[in-house]
Amino acid sequence: MIENRYKKGPREECGVFGIYAPGRDVARLTFFGLYALQHRGQASAGIATSDGRMAYTHKGMGLVTQVFNEDNLSPLQGHLAVGHTRYSTTGASHVRNAQPYLIETIHGPLGVAHNGNLTNALTLRQTLLERGVGLSSTTDSEVITQMLAAPAGIWTNGNSSHAIDSEPDRWVARIRAFIQMAEGAYSLTILTRNAIYAARDPLGLRPLCLGKFPDGGYVVTSESCALLTIGAEYLREVNPGEIARLDQYGIASFVGQESTKKALCIFEYVYFARPDSTLEGQVIHTVRQQMGRQLAAESPVEADIVVGVPDSATPAAIGYSMKSGIPYTEGVTKNRYIGRTFIEPDDKLRQIGINLKYNPLTANLQDKRVVLVDDSIVRGNTIGPLVELLREGGAAEVHVRVSSPPVRHPCFMGVDMATHRQLIAHQLDTEGIRQRIDADSLAYLSLPGMVNAIQEALDGKSGHCTACFSGDYPISIPEWLFDENREKLIFEEMWG
Ligand code: SF4
Repeated sequence: MIENRYKKGPREECGVFGIYAPGRDVARLTFFGLYALQHRGQASAGIATSDGRMAYTHKGMGLVTQVFNEDNLSPLQGHLAVGHTRYSTTGASHVRNAQPYLIETIHGPLGVAHNGNLTNALTLRQTLLERGVGLSSTTDSEVITQMLAAPAGIWTNGNSSHAIDSEPDRWVARIRAFIQMAEGAYSLTILTRNAIYAARDPLGLRPLCLGKFPDGGYVVTSESCALLTIGAEYLREVNPGEIARLDQYGIASFVGQESTKKALCIFEYVYFARPDSTLEGQVIHTVRQQMGRQLAAESPVEADIVVGVPDSATPAAIGYSMKSGIPYTEGVTKNRYIGRTFIEPDDKLRQIGINLKYNPLTANLQDKRVVLVDDSIVRGNTIGPLVELLREGGAAEVHVRVSSPPVRHPCFMGVDMATHRQLIAHQLDTEGIRQRIDADSLAYLSLPGMVNAIQEALDGKSGHCTACFSGDYPISIPEWLFDENREKLIFEEMWG
């Protein structure tokens, strides 16, 4: 598969879904749920279901609609299911790394879908291998699956042969034991014989929320937009450190680990989450508009029109327009049908990659001084060609405004920007980037401005990871992860 280097922003890392709904076609509902979560990962998709006796699965490479059809959906029988859309952060983009993982255990099927990255995955993997557990893929998500397959006592007392689960609900015990061992980001949906479980790391780095159908049945999903799609109503978020069980008795909550601080990824607000999703009680679109307003307050400029980079920067552009009084206008159209697999021009034909995806609306741009609002600049591959596109479309001036601060630090918690050298703001200062992208001016939203924009909307009730902007990581990061020669495919490097 050829990756689309002209995809704007960093790559999202997976959407997870789970459903307990007797009497409904859970495979089809999971398909539609994954379709709503497609923006979180386009490399592969998969569904695992169970009827309480047998388990069934289908997964493959590509978009949800490329992986599933009537023929492979209908055999997925049962009343509970988990599903996954993937973009790879550990493990190559290969079908053996597609999720959910589904294995047979002594207590029935175990299916796991994971969003996030474990920062101690190598240590955990080594522990498994030393105990004779074979692994078939190169992801931290399979490590999680195999850890959950073993009784909780294995991890706490080291006795693998006689360990037993210490609680009436063995799966809660196992998930709790995993949480004690794991470091990093994980939002999990887990299929067992009789129930779906959901778990979120104690910092709540990646989102996860619960919903229900008005006439019975429960859902867990990365984002609330998937609930609306399938006709379920939003209940609440899975709390950081919480384990939730969805079964015939409803939703039961267990403490996996007390959460002492929250650190939801602030990039969910900036770019990842769909604008109609709700996070921490706030509609993403509203928060992005607030970021745009803050940006206009911090970095005003004389101009005739405000244009947003479609689609993710549109709310921030509208916010910038509202605060500045400069009219918002569409200046660029986007071809929404270019997926991750289109044949990419080589570097000499770089502009064609942009032209395939974006076209200027020349009637709106002619002789105008344009404020071009983008939500983030990570690698810097897209914004320069876009500035050039606007100029070719007739813009007299192009002033770039970015509704988040410069991305200067790598992410190890589930987002594909894992080395400094990938980040243009690590290589160049703002003036250097302005020259590189040939803008008339360039300004970013300040870190306090971004945090305040969110906190204002949230009434100051939450905490966020801002590490890629601030360098302030919410967990300790092993030194070797900062090695610039390391690629994201850690396991391939270690095990060949
Ligand atoms: S480092 Fe950035 S992208 Fe990664 S979890 Fe933190 S805020 Fe999100």
